[in-house]
Amino acid sequence: MFRSEYADVPAVELPIHEAVLGRAAEFGDTPALIDGVDGTTITYEQLDRFHRRLAAAFADTGVEKGDVLALHSPNTIAFPTAFYAATRAGASVTTVHPLATPDEFAKQLTDSGARWIVTVSPLLETARTAAERAGGIREIFVCDNAPGHRSLIDMLATTAPEPHLDIDPAEDIAALPYSSGTTGIPKGVMLTHRSIATNLAQLEPATRFGPGERVLAVLPFFHIYGLTALMNAPLKQGATVVVLPRFDLETFLTAIEEQRITGLFVAPPIVLALAKHPKVAEYDLSSLTYIVSAAAPLDARLAQACARRLGLPPVSQAYGMTELSPCTHLVPLDTAQDAPPGTVGKLIAGTEMRIVSLNDPSEDLGAGEPGEVLIRGPQVMKGYLGRPDATTAMIDTDGWLHTGDIGHVDADGWLYIVDRVKELIKYKGFQVAPAELEALLLTHPGIADAAVIGFYNDDNNEVPHAYVVRQPTATDLSEGEVMMYVAERVAPYKRVRRVTFLSAVPRAASGKILRRELRDLQEQRKVRE
Ligand code: AMP
Repeated sequence: MFRSEYADVPAVELPIHEAVLGRAAEFGDTPALIDGVDGTTITYEQLDRFHRRLAAAFADTGVEKGDVLALHSPNTIAFPTAFYAATRAGASVTTVHPLATPDEFAKQLTDSGARWIVTVSPLLETARTAAERAGGIREIFVCDNAPGHRSLIDMLATTAPEPHLDIDPAEDIAALPYSSGTTGIPKGVMLTHRSIATNLAQLEPATRFGPGERVLAVLPFFHIYGLTALMNAPLKQGATVVVLPRFDLETFLTAIEEQRITGLFVAPPIVLALAKHPKVAEYDLSSLTYIVSAAAPLDARLAQACARRLGLPPVSQAYGMTELSPCTHLVPLDTAQDAPPGTVGKLIAGTEMRIVSLNDPSEDLGAGEPGEVLIRGPQVMKGYLGRPDATTAMIDTDGWLHTGDIGHVDADGWLYIVDRVKELIKYKGFQVAPAELEALLLTHPGIADAAVIGFYNDDNNEVPHAYVVRQPTATDLSEGEVMMYVAERVAPYKRVRRVTFLSAVPRAASGKILRRELRDLQEQRKVRE
């Protein structure tokens, strides 16, 4: 068993809005959030006041403790106000990918039992359609303005009293992001107030978020990585968060230059752009002092090229997963130069790890031997909503969460992630669940069977690769038709980008897809190409 080198941190027994905004009054007029495109600013004093007012308006509308509120929005400076207001009103926030199709969104609404939606006017049609399909939604609020819907801005004028609820940080759910975990379709990950708030405390010794720090929120808040690193952690410590709604290289570089950004939290495709894109040379990025990359594997040479080009210390990797609130490992920012290339970091405070044999999970492996990474700590999720079987399949009776990632540690305790045993595909850091695409492919009348695995394209992005068995009546079904069928029904990041036809999908007697055999086919094809 491997233990963190840091001193333990006590569990944070506070609701997340209090854990994060407890020092907001002290930070007062400091900008908490700045819109990176138009410069609109929300100070700490405003963020504190606005979220309390909005919580009062939510409670007055009927939001009750235990309700689920779906937050469906790209990054905006209003997002944190909506989030903390909802939790202060007692709701659990299920964050929704802004590119979700109405069907994908409706599934999440139904599964989470959501009663309320907060969206933005450009996404309103999707939200309305999803709400109709799911049923049970009592009101759709908009962050900006849209006819027929109450605006969060107008709701701030409420005179209703602020709710004072009895929230149990250890049991009550603050966030309910969706993740497919190691197998199957996306599931609601129950993250308690305590697990999220404690993860912030665990990260503190290895990060830098104090006053004067300026981070750029280009990764989405709806994903737990953005929610933690770009919203909760910096707002807890008095940093300024500059918010961008999406990644566009020139807007991103302009924001770094104009807003004098000090720290970046990104995923590997942005490291690639910073390392290679000619435009980067046209901007003054000298305010940057560190870059963190997480959410997907980062090539060590690419990381080095990026840091060298920008004259920065090595890119610090972090590792975690939604089910771990999310972080377990990080290369400490202040000593990034001491970390060996390719490592995802050391255990953060209060976290334990085992590396176990893939053949025999009871056998612990030592330094240098690759096996499945198991994690124990206060950041482990409470479980999957309504799916006790999936929860027990992932967290064993001793409290170890089986990540489905394969890694090894070196003699100094640095972890390296080398592969996955789980089904998950990560496209630019976003989750794509093979089971979801397989179920969709099977709805095509010309498809008899299908399996999906990831493959790395020329840009080193992992993309979905479908293995398809045609129906005897559909001998002319083409790759293009299969890709189009999927593209019309899923959010763009889930598109199938390669199709191979087979006479049969390799399956075990139990019916389980033998993904390892498909990977072997991929390898053979790579050799031929
Ligand atoms: P998510 O729940 O969307 O955050 O996805 C978690 C998964 O992303 C992990 O289980 C890993 O497979 C992968 N992942 C996260 N961080 C890293 C990293 N630094 N290197 C390699 N894979 C990572």
